[in-house]
Amino acid sequence: MKAARLHEYGKPLVLDDVPTPAPGAGEVLIQIGGAGFCHSDIHVIDGDIRVLPRMPLTLGHENAGRVAAIGAGVHSVHEGDPVAVYGGWGCGHCDACVSGAEQLCATPQWVGLSQYDGGYAEFLLIPHERYLIPLDRLTPEVAAPLTDAALTPYRAIQKAQPFLQPDRGVLVIGIGGLGQYGVKLLRLLTGCSIIAVDTAEPKLTLARELGADVTLNAKAPDIAAQIREVTHGRGVSAAFDFVGSESSLALAVASTSALGKVTQIGLAGGTARMKVLENTAFEVQFETTLWGTIKELREVLALAESGRLSSIPIEFASLACINEVYTRVKSGQVAGRVVIRP
Ligand SMILES: [Zn+2]
Ligand SMILES: [Zn+2]
Repeated sequence: MKAARLHEYGKPLVLDDVPTPAPGAGEVLIQIGGAGFCHSDIHVIDGDIRVLPRMPLTLGHENAGRVAAIGAGVHSVHEGDPVAVYGGWGCGHCDACVSGAEQLCATPQWVGLSQYDGGYAEFLLIPHERYLIPLDRLTPEVAAPLTDAALTPYRAIQKAQPFLQPDRGVLVIGIGGLGQYGVKLLRLLTGCSIIAVDTAEPKLTLARELGADVTLNAKAPDIAAQIREVTHGRGVSAAFDFVGSESSLALAVASTSALGKVTQIGLAGGTARMKVLENTAFEVQFETTLWGTIKELREVLALAESGRLSSIPIEFASLACINEVYTRVKSGQVAGRVVIRP
């Protein structure tokens, strides 16, 4: 089969011919229907996030497809079933795994980001059937981005629910794929007034279409003052930073009111500097959040299956074009999500 593999940090992916895996006992082979191209993969390819234990490795952690073959002892899925793939694989027995937050495993085994190959390929080997969630009305190519781009903000928002009252404002920084689902989910799950911030005007236009009440360009001078103004001097009660840089985190902290919460999403980076009486209001909480649980993915898929959570804009690309996709996503030329269809 064809697989787009990273051989060396800082180099383009290589479209290799590799053996199609055969599922052993308890394993499932998926024919990839769609694999979302995530911004995190850019950080991995560039070598900013050096988590890969081996190379060459097939990247791709936002996957859905159809069951192509099952190993002995697999009962919950059958050949031909459309499924979404939960990607935050873990060891299954550390504290995080047994609590259900397998994506936070002490020894992460995330698909496409560990020793396990990911979904930028024709087929994907799944080590356990519990990672598969059957699809009903959703097609695999639309479901794929839900497994990260929607799941990650869903978890972040659910953990911040006590801070998301209808009489308050919420700040979303960075309107990429995750930020877009963040705006949609805030609209769906809370009554907050949503303030979206990005540096690109097309992303701000899209944010308004997805449900943001106010959009502000981060390039404008003193953006924190503008956020104070639109919140009538109060600041927001919750801020979600989907960018992860010094300046985005500084904006999140500066904009959050007393008793509020700042959430940093994902692995991108940046250091939050928080000092009371200097740049931080009283009793502001700070939390990092990573991906989501299997249960949370089931909840996200239920929202999408019911039609309440519609898709962000998706464009499709072939496996052979994956390095062009890398370039276009990196330079901000993609409005929503690119899904690779082998
Ligand atoms: Zn991702
Ligand atoms: Zn574990």
